[in-house]
Formats: sequence, C-alpha cells, structure tokens
Amino acid sequence: MSRAKSVEVVVLGTGFGGLTFCQAFRHPEARITLVDRTNHHLFQPLLYQVATAGLSAPEIAAPARSVFAHRPDVTVLMADVEGIDLSRREVRLRDGVLSYDYLVMALGGVTSYFGHPEWEQFAPGLKTLDDAMRIRRDVLMAFEEAETTTDESRRSELLTLAVIGGGPTGVEMAGALAELARRVLAKDFRRMNPASTRVVLIEGSPRVLSHLPADLGDSAARQLRDLGVEVLTGRRVLEVRAGEVHLDDGTTIRAANILWAAGVAASPLTRQLGVPLDRAGRVVVEPDLSLPGHPRVFAIGDMALVLDAQARPVPGVCPAAMQMARHVARLVRDELEARHGVPVRRTPFRYWDKGSMATIGRSAAVAKMGALELSGLPAWFAWLFVHLLFLIGYRNKVAVLWQWAYSYLAYKRGARIILGREEG
Ligand SMILES: Cc1cc2nc3c(=O)[nH]c(=O)nc-3n(C[C@H](O)[C@H](O)[C@H](O)COP(=O)(O)OP(=O)(O)OC[C@H]3O[C@@H](n4cnc5c(N)ncnc54)[C@H](O)[C@@H]3O)c2cc1C
Repeated sequence: MSRAKSVEVVVLGTGFGGLTFCQAFRHPEARITLVDRTNHHLFQPLLYQVATAGLSAPEIAAPARSVFAHRPDVTVLMADVEGIDLSRREVRLRDGVLSYDYLVMALGGVTSYFGHPEWEQFAPGLKTLDDAMRIRRDVLMAFEEAETTTDESRRSELLTLAVIGGGPTGVEMAGALAELARRVLAKDFRRMNPASTRVVLIEGSPRVLSHLPADLGDSAARQLRDLGVEVLTGRRVLEVRAGEVHLDDGTTIRAANILWAAGVAASPLTRQLGVPLDRAGRVVVEPDLSLPGHPRVFAIGDMALVLDAQARPVPGVCPAAMQMARHVARLVRDELEARHGVPVRRTPFRYWDKGSMATIGRSAAVAKMGALELSGLPAWFAWLFVHLLFLIGYRNKVAVLWQWAYSYLAYKRGARIILGREEG
C-alpha cells in the first residue's frame, strides 16, 4: 500500500475511549496517530488507592507506547492538543499540526468547581496521577506534622480530612482515608493517635451515591459510619478557603486537607468546536456518535452526550467509553471496507448498562447489576472481581496482578513513602 493512499485516523486521548478505539480498530489502508498529554493510559477507578497510599502509580497506569509497541500502524505522540479546526480537518498541537480523514475525540473531562475555580487551590480534585500523588503527599505530611506539633488546635486541624462530594469517588476516598488512619497507621505514631482522625464527607443531596437506589445509598452511609466517617448529607458548601469549609447550616470545618470530589465537566476544548454542547460542556453527538454536520468526526466517552434506550444520558463511566469506542471502530472499519462498493448505513450507538458499584473499604461496598443489589462483603467481592478482571485485560501481566492483589489485600502500604516535598 502506498503512503499516499492511507487513511489518516487521528485519535485524541489514551483514556478508556481512545485506547479501546485503537485496540478495536485496524485496517490495512489506515494509519492511526494517537495523541495524549500524558505518556500513559490511566486506570482511573483505582486513582483513589494511589491518593490514599494503597497502591503506587505504576500499578494503575500503562505506557501507551508499550501498549502499541506491536502495532506498526499506530503512532503515539505525547503532546497537548490546543485546538481542533473542523473546517480544515486539522488538530493543532503545541508543536505542530495533524491532518485527518477521521477524527476520534476522547479527551475525557476535568474537575468542575461549579463556577468557583478559586476553590481548586484549597480543595484539589482527583483526575490524574499527579493529582493523586499530590493528595497522597499532603495527607501523609499532615500525619507527620501532627506527630511533631505541640499545638493541640493545629493537631486537630491536621487530623481532620474533609471530602466534598458524596458520589462514588467521594465515598471511596472517605472510606479509604478512614481505613488508612484507623487501621494502617494506627501503630506507627507515638505522640498522637491516628485513630482520632476525623474524616468528614459532605454531600449536598439527601443521600450519598444518589445515582443508586435509596437503600444502597443508605447502606453505603451506614458502612462509612461504621468505619468512623462523619457523613453530612443535605449540606451545601458555601465557601472553601485555605483549611476551611463553610457550610450552608453555618458550620465551619477546619481541615488541613480538603478534597474535592463533587463535579466533572467535559474537556474545555469542546467549547471551540462550534457544535451544540450541554451544560457540562459535553458534545451533543448524533446517534452514531458523530458530530452534527461532521460525519467523520466522533466524540466518545466523558466528552460526549448521547442518550440510552430510555432517553437518559449515558453515564460517564469506563464501560460506556469503551462501548462507544468499539461502536466507532466498527463503523469506520465498515466504511473503509465499503469505500469502493455500496455505502454502509450507520447504525446508532446502543449502551449496555452493566451496573454500577462503589467500594467503601475492605469488605465494605455497594453494587447494583441489573435487578441484583448487593451490599457489604458480597458487593466488595463483586467490586474486587470486576477490577481485577479489568486490570488483567489491560495490563495483561499476571505477575503484576498478583503483586497488586497481595499489597492490596494484606494492607501492605508500600506506597507510603513521601516524595516531592518542596523545601520551605
Ligand atoms: C477518580 C475517578 C474514579 C472513577 N471511578 C470509576 C469507576 O469506578 N467505574 C467507572 O466505570 N468509571 C469510573 N470513573 C470514570 C471513568 O474513569 C471515565 O468515565 C473514563 O475514564 C472516561 O474515558 P474517556 O476516554 O472519555 O476519558 P479519560 O479516560 O479521562 O481519558 C482522557 C484522556 O485525554 C487526555 N487529554 C485530555 N485533554 C487533553 C489535551 N488537551 N491534550 C492531550 N491530551 C488530553 C487525558 O490525559 C486522558 O488520558 C472514575 C473517574 C475518576 C476521575
């Protein structure tokens, strides 16, 4: 095949959408260029484990270059996407321009502060490995300082952790922080007691995990309380300052670490596309996942808004991004196959909801899979099984899996080393 004839497929993002597309799509006439600002695919569902010292960074990330080392048709570029010009069919990188015949955008989302970007400096969100490493360092440093200080009120601030947002990430963070303080660090300190750590979970709606049935949300709150987490529901955050969260009932929580798990928005790049967006900045795509008026450009995963069979928005979860990726891969491949023959009729994307789950701690979780609702130990086993399966699938290294499973199950928190501390 001559170079001039090849079809240029540009894929933006090595997350669940972009990576799955590249794995599912292959055609002798196509060349794929995969672009991401990081050099790795990140298993975001376990990010909170890195943030709470349960796992180390390489255990939940895989270098994109090595994932595609055996695919000469895939070129990996580590670059920031700065602009997309749909009329010229070009993607602008910080250093250069890529032209495409097909464009698959899978740039995911960013943490949203609901119109208060100034809160970010006081309450970091959890979206990247850098975020997780920063949270881990700050949390571990707070315990170190609490051991050293002789000021009781400062110690109580250092031993208070506030998590804002009672969705899956907030619930998982709060549970893991409580376990870290009460079970893992319990014997490590002499001058203060880590078990006295206060973990406060703040949620604006009446219950945590509001996307799940009420009984599962209530069960999650109970399991969190059993771990010692203070669960404050129906309380809205009015203001976040350095070390302070102000709530609408007049309460102020003083906490050395405030973590934000309350909102996500689509990649800000969607705003320059000139196509319809929803309030979260997601691209309102056609039923086949293409952009209105741009049949060879697709948005998939967290940056796309598409409806399921019940006319509800498909949720921003890994299985949805992967299913969208496979749909687009099939569609582009069929079109390339039919290039010299009868044009194919595009089928609409159909989402298969595999259910959702959230883990609260070891042996504590909730899960909903179809009509089946689980809570406690059975839900935790279901969570563990699904995550181990996922990890095997994408890392394909049984040895790494066992190492991970051992450190996770045995409370071996080797990831407790403090790195990257700025000298004051
Ligand atoms: C903390 C956390 C926990 C989660 N837990 C779960 C869970 O338990 N189960 C579940 O199903 N889902 C979970 N999710 C959601 C899930 O991770 C997302 O739905 C999924 O990752 C979406 O895939 P995506 O391909 O759309 O985006 P992503 O996987 O986010 O990938 C986007 C990629 O685009 C890159 N990128 C973004 N902007 C640029 C740019 N300008 N230039 C270059 N590259 C760029 C990013 O570096 C990233 O690699 C969680 C998410 C988070 C943050």
